[in-house]
Amino acid sequence: MNIHEYQAKELLRQYGIPVPLGEVVYSVKAAARVAEEIGGQRWVVKAQIHAGGRGKAGGVKLANSMERLAELADQMIGSRLATEQTGPEGQRVQRVLVERAAKIDREIYLGFIVDRDSQRIVVIATAEGGVDVEEMAREHPERIHKEVVDPAIGLLDFQCRKIAMALGLQDRMSPFVRILKRFYRCFRDKDMLLAEINPLVETEDGDLLALDCKMVFDDNSLFRQGEIAELRDFDEEDPKEVEATGHGLNYIALDGQVGCIVNGAGLAMATMDAVVLHGARPANFLDVGGGASPEKVANAFRIVLKDPNVKAILVNIFAGINRCDWVATGVVQATRDQRIVVPIVVRLAGTNEVEGRRILSESGLDLITAEDLDEAAAKAVAALKAVEA
Ligand code: ADP
Ligand code: MG
Repeated sequence: MNIHEYQAKELLRQYGIPVPLGEVVYSVKAAARVAEEIGGQRWVVKAQIHAGGRGKAGGVKLANSMERLAELADQMIGSRLATEQTGPEGQRVQRVLVERAAKIDREIYLGFIVDRDSQRIVVIATAEGGVDVEEMAREHPERIHKEVVDPAIGLLDFQCRKIAMALGLQDRMSPFVRILKRFYRCFRDKDMLLAEINPLVETEDGDLLALDCKMVFDDNSLFRQGEIAELRDFDEEDPKEVEATGHGLNYIALDGQVGCIVNGAGLAMATMDAVVLHGARPANFLDVGGGASPEKVANAFRIVLKDPNVKAILVNIFAGINRCDWVATGVVQATRDQRIVVPIVVRLAGTNEVEGRRILSESGLDLITAEDLDEAAAKAVAALKAVEA
């Protein structure tokens, strides 16, 4: 799960990491009020969407006067912002963060990830942070510094000092070490998968300040992270994915044309691979899970069909805990609930498969059946090509 910059900064503040004075607002009037309260002459207006790359896309702007601030807030609130990370259609900006503009001397990148290779939390840092950090990392990987954290003993002082030296922060050693250790504690406490402060700036006055922050939380931990779970912003997520979660379905929207309804995450992955192998692209990942009731299967159809790109459906069930007769009943129910015009390929194998096939054939539905995954994928792609022709 992702959260907004202003929410991440609030967490940093709670952990004693310095962030600029500021507040999130939903209107021009509130923006002016907040700027007034902050005081000073220069403020930054920042579009709050769950995507980075805002600076380059015009979603982070400096205001040198109250008039300019109101103008910027007016432009941003309600607009759509397309960055490198949103896709061309962009994301609607519902709110902006108004904060004091920092006098930046230099920009540092500081992050934590759960690294799959070392199976450890790893600190990543570079002295050349800011909006071009991805490009820099590609071209100069040697300028990225890493420290692997031993989970049994945590992040140690000498590791923090090593990073500080690598970043040229020997003069700011103790405030930097404090920030890094607090950031680590926050990362661990809140079950994050990734956290980035980019940029962490050294100001002209020599202070360290977190100007931007991104946090990604482990969805599997949300049951014990009530306060974090409440920060979820459904407007930032695909409505189909939100609805699927509500039905206990594991659905991820993709950009292809073959809608996939599968049981089991591994089989769902293999099904998507098979679709690609036969020359098409999956419209989604969908795992209906074990013991899927007919209602659940019918809901899966409804969600998959909400995607206008879907031109064929591939149902691939290998039932162990599941029951093919239930899935078949779900397919029949789904076609009763709504008129389905796209071709449907069904492959049922495992528990109660004979019964499942009987239900499908007696339903009188115009279905394409298949015996195994490869055949099912080939038939789904052929059906798609026929629709397109
Ligand atoms: P993104 O990473 O989405 O582009 P950032 O919040 O990192 O957005 O902002 C982009 C750049 O804007 C930063 O690298 C920094 O140079 C500048 N910036 C952001 N916030 C402030 C601020 N409060 N004061 C001064 N400059 C800022
Ligand atoms: Mg940033």
